[in-house]
Amino acid sequence: MNDRSQPRGLLFIVSAPSGAGKTSLVKALVERDPGLMLSVSCTTRPARAGEQDGVHYHFLDRECFEREIEAGAFLEQAEVFGNLYGTRAADVHRRLDTGRDILLEIDWQGARQVRARLPEAISIFVLPPSIEELERRLRGRGTDSDEVIARRMTQARAELAHFAEYTYLVVNDCFQTALATLAAIVTAERQRLAYQRPRLAALLDPIESIA
Ligand code: 5GP
Repeated sequence: MNDRSQPRGLLFIVSAPSGAGKTSLVKALVERDPGLMLSVSCTTRPARAGEQDGVHYHFLDRECFEREIEAGAFLEQAEVFGNLYGTRAADVHRRLDTGRDILLEIDWQGARQVRARLPEAISIFVLPPSIEELERRLRGRGTDSDEVIARRMTQARAELAHFAEYTYLVVNDCFQTALATLAAIVTAERQRLAYQRPRLAALLDPIESIA
């Protein structure tokens, strides 16, 4: 596809260890940017209180999920904390093909698979300001046992170890600053020539005919 054909959307990937504040940041980012859609993943984990099927996730049993894996339905899929998670390829391609920008909130394993298939994907890693602060956040209300917290910290460190595979690093120290930084990345990526050219045809075509 050349730069002047049908506009194609951008694909953003956001990953972070749990406790870095990724979910709240992503929610705020898509709320303030109507051009950016959050992809709804499939998962085998049970819905948490307040989560709706088709809104927060598509909740599938393991058998259905595995059938979709076999059918090649997923752009990426991974096992996280004993549950399967995946992004349906058809949903992503349909939106990108109609020029919509999409954000995938997925773990490092999924990010790796998406990059391999769609190297143009823009990947962002959200970091906590320090390991100590991450642990403080994971301790939350102080109701979890030391063993549970230690397990979460091990998982968080395993995710953190992959930061260098991403294009952008955003430290979530102050929520509003991190949110503005994420929005700035999206804005900057939308100014690239390949993105602008088909969208600015009415402005650019007459200019090109002069040259
Ligand atoms: P949670 O169960 O807390 O919503 O998510 C647990 C982890 O799974 C998070 O790190 C989240 O980013 C990741 N995750 C959610 N959806 C997907 C997905 O479709 N693919 C992959 N690879 N990871 C996902």
